[in-house]
Amino acid sequence: MPEAFRADGIDMRTRHRVEEIDAKRALVTVTDLEAGRTYTESYDQLLIATGARASPLKAAVSPTAPPTVQLRTLADADCIANMLIGVRKLVVLGGGYIGLEMAETARKLGLDVAVVEMASHVIPTFDEAVSKLVEEELRRNNVQLFTGSRVVELDSGHVVLDNGERIAADMVLVATGVRPSTTLATATGVKLGATGAIAVSHRMSTNVKRIYAAGDCAESRHVVSDRPVWMPLGDVANRHGRVAGTNMAGGNATFPGVLGTAIFRVFDLAVARTGLSHADASAAGLFPVSEMIKAPSRARYMSGSKTVHIHLTVDRLSGRLLGCQVVGADAVDKTIDTVAAAIWGKLTASDLLDLDLAYAPPFSPVFAPVQVAGEVLGKVTRTMRNELAATVMGYMF
Ligand code: NAD
Repeated sequence: MPEAFRADGIDMRTRHRVEEIDAKRALVTVTDLEAGRTYTESYDQLLIATGARASPLKAAVSPTAPPTVQLRTLADADCIANMLIGVRKLVVLGGGYIGLEMAETARKLGLDVAVVEMASHVIPTFDEAVSKLVEEELRRNNVQLFTGSRVVELDSGHVVLDNGERIAADMVLVATGVRPSTTLATATGVKLGATGAIAVSHRMSTNVKRIYAAGDCAESRHVVSDRPVWMPLGDVANRHGRVAGTNMAGGNATFPGVLGTAIFRVFDLAVARTGLSHADASAAGLFPVSEMIKAPSRARYMSGSKTVHIHLTVDRLSGRLLGCQVVGADAVDKTIDTVAAAIWGKLTASDLLDLDLAYAPPFSPVFAPVQVAGEVLGKVTRTMRNELAATVMGYMF
């Protein structure tokens, strides 16, 4: 991998750690970890791309507690795979993306799996109706769920919850989220935003001259709420990097923002989201209305047709699309990508019905699930507008 970069003229130095950035003199102090040597290197432009780190476990750990692991790097994955030999009961702390992906993998390896999630439902950044479908799928696959629970102690062969419940465990996987790695940045005077990640301009520059930031350590602006958000996602990091790199090389690029579009698989279901959840939209001062609809993924008489559940959130008066979450065993990725593009284009729920989408029975019903959702929310918002108009007229006359 470093060789591939070097072949492209990039002086990639692995096993080198930056200790300090001297922004006044435009110097970085670096330790060569193999040679044990520290030296300084000058820069014209500097990119901070220090990523995120896994949140540590906050619980008392007894000396005889089961081993705990975190999944951050490929090396962690290899290490976990080796440690799983002989393990029968795995407890996963955190019901987010990594927790659920690991729960599925462990069940497929034949382990007993329990997931502990402190929020009232798994994947708490999704709306509850969607999380409930995911919870049903987990239970259907014999994953034990403990929601609304926090771990207070890892004891001999057990995980102890705040309600006193004890779950047997041979091994514990901690997947309780990530935080931006910003120690180097703050020591250099680089400002953080309200999210705790590095505040950046549309050009991905920081408040310190000639220093840029990109990836999981940096904020983005949300396209719908127009607020700074922290979205530690791989595709966002790549898009950040292109913009920062172009500007650092003398070009002129701007980062247009994020919708937080994401997808993951849990057993037979794909689960995806884009834009704001209902709760996010309310918190952003908007007036959302949401509906959950279900529709077949293909013409009903075609084999492979599955139910697609769409939770669509729109502005209650204008009908403008604000966010969407999709769960199902078919057509989830194309549905979420269609809505992501529609939100980006500032379309309304009713516009979805007018989209000219690909139709043939093996691929879609005549009206795609996304159009059914658009039709339902379009009607809801039209009714609300009419009621509002009637009320206003009532006051006037
Ligand atoms: P996450 O933020 O998705 O989930 C962490 C979960 O742990 C949350 O549900 C949170 O409520 C819960 N939690 C926090 N503290 C807890 C505690 N003490 N006890 C019980 N539950 C607790 O984070 P993750 O799953 O660790 O994933 C890390 C990052 O990787 C995320 O930012 C995610 O976006 C990214 N990721 C994305 C994908 C994808 O897009 N497909 C896949 C894997 C990872």
